[in-house]
Amino acid sequence: MNKGILIWAEISRDDYVNPVVFELAGRAAELSGALDESPVMALVMLKPEMIDKYKEAFSINGFDKVYYLENSEFGEYKTDIFSKIAVEAVKDINPEIFLIGATNQGRDIAPRISSALNTGLTADCTALDINENKKLAATRPTFGGQLMATILSKTFPQMATVRPGTFKAPKTDKRKETEFIKLDIDTGDIKSKIEILDFKKKICSELNDIDSSDIIVAGGRGMQTKEGFELLKKLADKLGGAVGASRVAVEMGLASQDCQVGQTGKTVSPKLYIACGISGALQHTIGMEQSHKIIAINTDPDAPIFQIADYGYVGDAFEVIPQLIEKL
Ligand SMILES: Cc1cc2nc3c(=O)[nH]c(=O)nc-3n(C[C@H](O)[C@H](O)[C@H](O)COP(=O)(O)OP(=O)(O)OC[C@H]3O[C@@H](n4cnc5c(N)ncnc54)[C@H](O)[C@@H]3O)c2cc1C
Repeated sequence: MNKGILIWAEISRDDYVNPVVFELAGRAAELSGALDESPVMALVMLKPEMIDKYKEAFSINGFDKVYYLENSEFGEYKTDIFSKIAVEAVKDINPEIFLIGATNQGRDIAPRISSALNTGLTADCTALDINENKKLAATRPTFGGQLMATILSKTFPQMATVRPGTFKAPKTDKRKETEFIKLDIDTGDIKSKIEILDFKKKICSELNDIDSSDIIVAGGRGMQTKEGFELLKKLADKLGGAVGASRVAVEMGLASQDCQVGQTGKTVSPKLYIACGISGALQHTIGMEQSHKIIAINTDPDAPIFQIADYGYVGDAFEVIPQLIEKL
């Protein structure tokens, strides 16, 4: 019988566990309550003798079990060997649910695993729940973001990828006595057909990028010009934050694509999100509605952004932002 919620534990090139793994652990711990306290588990593929380095991180993030595989070939992610071995590992573990972060690596490996296991995959989810039949109800935008669809899988494991930033990592007081289990799968002479010749790191064009910032000052069409965005930058600098943008603002050339928040941009959950001249279309809000506090500045009192804002200011951003900067 399939049991437990398994999470793909992605290790980055700089040897750290991708934060999305812990975000998924946080949500999995909440879902496990509806599944008779199903264990929260991780699957990780590493270079030999590396597991000790990560034990503390898995324990404080509430994992019950961590299954690991070691091979000197696992130092760098390579599609062919990782997906082949991961499939064998998932067959061994036999989870009920298998969650993967929708990172570059996750988007690469998830469909390969689901296809090899002949099971369904709901990609790029924005919400995960357990329905009345104890099945994973995975929600994602569909029809160009006009509708949210909740998808159930008829096959096991029920697989989903989830964007980074969608959920919160568990509080560290959720520490568990994690069991570390080395999987008995023969990976001895596995060789990849892929050779990585070079690695070029993408440098975000904004100095303080929105992925890691606690404060985001975002602008939309209402900021109108480059000067409007300069104003946002000044406010962000005063607050120690980063500048985000709606897709329309990006298309108007007011901000770079790196800054775009929403369905076709990034998902963010900063402590404070200030939306300036942004109407609050669903395709934008699904990328920022998990922010702890949202302040909206908009001339239109009926703008949908006010429905999700904690504080709203109905008025001209060009009048209020200089006053805010002055006060700060
Ligand atoms: C498949 C698909 C994917 C998409 N993906 C994304 C995405 O990832 N991210 C995204 O953002 N959008 C996305 N969109 C676009 C989305 O549907 C909206 O069109 C977009 O978010 C609107 O951007 P906006 O709020 O800047 O502009 P608008 O909707 O035009 O809103 C501008 C707002 O500014 C206000 N305003 C005007 N002047 C001022 C002023 N002086 N002071 C204060 N307020 C003012 C107006 O009242 C208005 O509410 C997507 C659309 C599709 C179809």
